[in-house]
Amino acid sequence: MYPERVLSGMRPTGAMHIGHYHGALVNWVRMQAEYPCFFMVADWHALTTSYDEVAVIGESVWEMLIDWLAAGVDPNQATIFIQSRVPEHAELTLLLGMATPLGWLERVPTYKDQIEKLSHKDLLTYGFLGYPLMQAADILVYRASMVPVGEDQVPHIEFTREIARRFNYLYGREAGFEEKAREAMKKLGGKRAKLYDEVRTRFQQNGDEGALEQGRALLADAQSLSMGDRERLFGYLEGSRKLILVEPQARLTAAPRLPGLDGAKMSKSYGNSIAMREEPAELTRKIRTMPTDPARVRLTDPGDPELCPVWPLHRIYTDEATHQWVQSGCRSASIGCLDCKQPLIDALLKEQQPIRERAQVYLDDPTLLRNIVADGCDKARKVAQDTMRDVREAMGLDYS
Ligand code: ATP
Ligand code: MG
Repeated sequence: MYPERVLSGMRPTGAMHIGHYHGALVNWVRMQAEYPCFFMVADWHALTTSYDEVAVIGESVWEMLIDWLAAGVDPNQATIFIQSRVPEHAELTLLLGMATPLGWLERVPTYKDQIEKLSHKDLLTYGFLGYPLMQAADILVYRASMVPVGEDQVPHIEFTREIARRFNYLYGREAGFEEKAREAMKKLGGKRAKLYDEVRTRFQQNGDEGALEQGRALLADAQSLSMGDRERLFGYLEGSRKLILVEPQARLTAAPRLPGLDGAKMSKSYGNSIAMREEPAELTRKIRTMPTDPARVRLTDPGDPELCPVWPLHRIYTDEATHQWVQSGCRSASIGCLDCKQPLIDALLKEQQPIRERAQVYLDDPTLLRNIVADGCDKARKVAQDTMRDVREAMGLDYS
């Protein structure tokens, strides 16, 4: 019903690292030629964890945009914009919040996780609890069907689907449809009708796929229904009513969770990252000092790449022949850890060189970037306004 569309965003909270690049950005570049794409600087999201150090956000916004463009995001194909310049995101967040159960937010797996990991910050705030809902609004306001992200974001996309489903359930009914469906339900007979109603509610309110299956089986077995009524009840079960918001799918890359220098997920806040535009000397130093398999104390001790944080980087950065050389050389202790790291260093430097060159164009001419973004904000806003018109109408806010 709605065209395929892509939305994704990143938080301007510091320099972009190769985890962002291989975890998400490579998919942005791939998808921009195929679909209309909207790429967002998630500055309000940065505030959810950096509300007490806002300077870093302003410093990172333009640097991050330069990283995107240098990585190959093409402003002639994709719409690049800043979240806070499209206030419709805030309006939809507020409206969706009215019907969002608190338990849904508290159960988002990243919620307690992040509070523990970032324990030096007070994240027991309304904004932090609500940020998956804001993310849902970011996606839904463009009716995006695909969201290219890293693995850590998958639960948020699932949450977004639930929010969309609930919205369509509450506000998407078409005149007359419900009455007809209710009439058809009576023809199922008392017990069956009751069960149908139950599984339908379970699916629509909680997204319980098992309940959906159960409902379909029940209808398939019901001999008493006419063709028309059966179709109607299939539709009513899934909520095939006016779809106002679109349920999106996550799109992962081949490296959906790139580990950092210490083997944990690469993250700015863990201090284990390699920037997308790292100084060559610093890049070399970082890799050379990376810990390796702890069993390899001496050169003569054999190691196991599976236990070494360097290996996942090889898998992304070097070719099959190098992989075999690493595997056999490490296990037989015929190569040292520094030998093993050298082709990796070479590959990283090679990847970053053209990125650095393309970035220079935008560093030299800041107005170029400002114009791209101003244009993108206008375009994004028009699409968001279209959605909000439908949302307000569906919620009965279009008083005249
Ligand atoms: P950091 O964890 O470094 O603070 P962040 O989580 O603040 O970064 P986001 O803006 O939330 O950065 O993430 C931007 C995108 O990059 C998301 O799609 C996220 O899944 C992806 N991403 C971040 N880190 C990694 C990683 N180590 N491996 C793969 N993808 C990642
Ligand atoms: Mg993150």
